[in-house]
Amino acid sequence: MIRTKIKSALHTSQPGETIKVCGWVRTRRDSKSGFSFVELNDGSCMANLQIVLDQNVPNYEKLIKDLTTGSSLSVTGKVIESPGKNQRIEIHAEAFDLYGSADAETYPLQKKRHSFEFLREIAHLRPRTNTFGAITRVRNEAATAIHRFFQSRGFIYIQTPIITTSDCEGAGEMFQVTTLNLDRLAQVQTEIDFSQDFFGKRASLTVSGQLEAEIFATSIGDCYTFGPTFRAENSNTTRHLAEFWMIEPEMPFYDLQDNMALAESFVRDVISDVLENCAEDMVFFNQRIDKTTLETLRNITENEFIRISYTEAIEIVKSSGKKFDFPIEWGSDMQSEHERFLTEEHFKQPVIVYNYPKTIKPFYMRCNDDGKTVCAMDVLVPGVGEIIGGSQREERYDILIDRMKEGGLNPEDYWWYTDLRKYGTVPHSGFGLGFERLIQLITSMTNIRDCIPFPRTPKNAEF
Ligand code: ATP
Ligand code: MG
Ligand code: MG
Ligand code: MG
Repeated sequence: MIRTKIKSALHTSQPGETIKVCGWVRTRRDSKSGFSFVELNDGSCMANLQIVLDQNVPNYEKLIKDLTTGSSLSVTGKVIESPGKNQRIEIHAEAFDLYGSADAETYPLQKKRHSFEFLREIAHLRPRTNTFGAITRVRNEAATAIHRFFQSRGFIYIQTPIITTSDCEGAGEMFQVTTLNLDRLAQVQTEIDFSQDFFGKRASLTVSGQLEAEIFATSIGDCYTFGPTFRAENSNTTRHLAEFWMIEPEMPFYDLQDNMALAESFVRDVISDVLENCAEDMVFFNQRIDKTTLETLRNITENEFIRISYTEAIEIVKSSGKKFDFPIEWGSDMQSEHERFLTEEHFKQPVIVYNYPKTIKPFYMRCNDDGKTVCAMDVLVPGVGEIIGGSQREERYDILIDRMKEGGLNPEDYWWYTDLRKYGTVPHSGFGLGFERLIQLITSMTNIRDCIPFPRTPKNAEF
């Protein structure tokens, strides 16, 4: 018999049916009168399914003591109406199979709250906890909602390279790729010259698929990427990972206003979708992680984002009288403390900041007529700060070449990119959303390392 998933059993199985369910024991209680209650979880939903086993079940006496927390089993039995208030149904076991017991002395996930730091050390078992089960399901729903959002608007999903020779952000955060294998590396005693190391060229892991996405936007139209990106971040913060997933839409014939409007409806739509389709998990985050989670998210979905220029943002931050670790002046990049002040204390709303100084933004952003700023926009949200960085792209050939030179890039290395401006150039825009930062926002988790199945940071790369 094929198993019924617990989520489906809880929602659709009817009293009288015989079903098979499988999963891992969360708790077991034995009554003195010869029966036991097992709370079974299979990851399909937050709720456990209650199983009642009694002495009529073959092997009850022999195996019941082995059904420890963490053990895996399958149960076949009758669905009955649950006398308890919390659940519609429970299962009266007719047969069960113990696949594997979990030693109560050594199984790390006993029934108590574990710290997230501790759970990071056992990342292979943490998906069995309520929190990481919920995060995994929310990630799945958000990813699906993202595809739905773009597909319903006629965007084409494209795949951009992971190994690339272009440094999109120019921030020196790229991991180099080498074709040397370990045996050869051991033989090479001298310093390695990475500039020719990928079949004669320098290559790195991508920090963004944007430049390549522009190729498709300027030929097939609205498109988006959704893939892994890599940054050799030298910072130990709660919102930076060395490997994270980024969603990057790129749209021809969009100006900065259009870009901001799309980014705003994108964030709101995806959050609404998760609120609706992961309601049970969202209640959990609201109860367990942060009591303001649902209110904050509803506020985001129901109210328009604030839009202010970078110059206005700096004025607000400076005139707040608040003490920051890093005092800010016009011309420097906002830190997370400033972004969070704007969204959590000043506006209590997401804020889109636009027109940043050109000296702190990459070469591809469109120059404004003031000569000082570029058509950039960042979406800032409470609890996280920046979740989206975007811009209208520079479509004017001569200005782009100047900007590349100013940034120390050799335009000849980007001949394919400048070609897009030489032949049928069009105004176009796009943005990048960090998927894990969105998950941080939705779940209220403090640390981004807890928003990805396998965090890649200096201390977390076990497998
Ligand atoms: P930050 O200022 O936080 O370092 P950034 O401005 O360098 O971010 P962008 O180059 O604008 O980031 O990238 C677009 C988006 O990708 C960001 O808005 C953020 O959501 C996400 N992102 C960037 N770096 C990281 C990282 N190291 N880990 C997780 N997400 C990231
Ligand atoms: Mg950065
Ligand atoms: Mg930034
Ligand atoms: Mg940015």
